[in-house]
Amino acid sequence: MDVVIDFHMHMIAFEEIRPWVTEYRLRNLGSNAEAFLKKYSSAKEMDALLKENGIDYAIMLPATNPITAGICRTETVVEFCHNSERLIPFATVNPFMVANPAKHIEHYVRDLGCKGVKLYPPYQQYYPNDQLAYPIYAKAAELGVPVMFHTGSSVFKGSRLKFGDPLLLDDVAVDFPDLKLVMAHSGRGFWYDRAFFLARLHKNLYMEISGLPPQNLLTYFPELERNADKIIYGSDWPGMPHLKRNIEMVRSLPLKDETKDKILGLNAAKVLGIGDDLESTP
Ligand SMILES: [Zn+2]
Repeated sequence: MDVVIDFHMHMIAFEEIRPWVTEYRLRNLGSNAEAFLKKYSSAKEMDALLKENGIDYAIMLPATNPITAGICRTETVVEFCHNSERLIPFATVNPFMVANPAKHIEHYVRDLGCKGVKLYPPYQQYYPNDQLAYPIYAKAAELGVPVMFHTGSSVFKGSRLKFGDPLLLDDVAVDFPDLKLVMAHSGRGFWYDRAFFLARLHKNLYMEISGLPPQNLLTYFPELERNADKIIYGSDWPGMPHLKRNIEMVRSLPLKDETKDKILGLNAAKVLGIGDDLESTP
């Protein structure tokens, strides 16, 4: 069995969290919500959860989105992942909150070992092709780490859809042809065709499918197989709590086995530069 990588997980514990995020989680998780949230605030429990769901590695994402969701600092994520064998930390930066975002990214990647960058333009309210963010891209390109963007809709109050249009990444892909770019949620809402076309057009632009019901993938992307090398699996846990069911739904799609292996892990491994020799964990 090939390696399985979940490219999109969030921490339970935030330093600050907007009340509607907590309400969303509680609503989504049902009657056991409080016990669930408490349990998975532990890295060891997260490892056990990943293992029992057949996930070899998972990306853990920080967030510095005070208007729309809350704050979970990169340092917090790095520390959490230190106590885990399966979690891989990403960095984030809010270009409105720090004077020199590129310097922060350099520190997170070089000194703290983050393997990529997550940006949230609809939550942080800038266009991804704004010059404001360009130093981040230049730094990520220099460091050789991927940049993932929230694209498409969000359920959280205050997020603005116009900043999540995948087309805005066309400029970034043109200006940084060697930088690996990932569209989280693949333009969720009414931009699926746009995300799909752009991922075919640009060599280093990838689609990530977290938050999308896997049984709908072929409705959203009828020619999915043609983009087999450019699609990355992610769950958006804990927003999507049923990890095993989600993966099984991908496996049950009428696609080549090879394509499913690529979606579930091999494409992510390539983007993360963690090698073709990667094995599933025992
Ligand atoms: Zn997410």
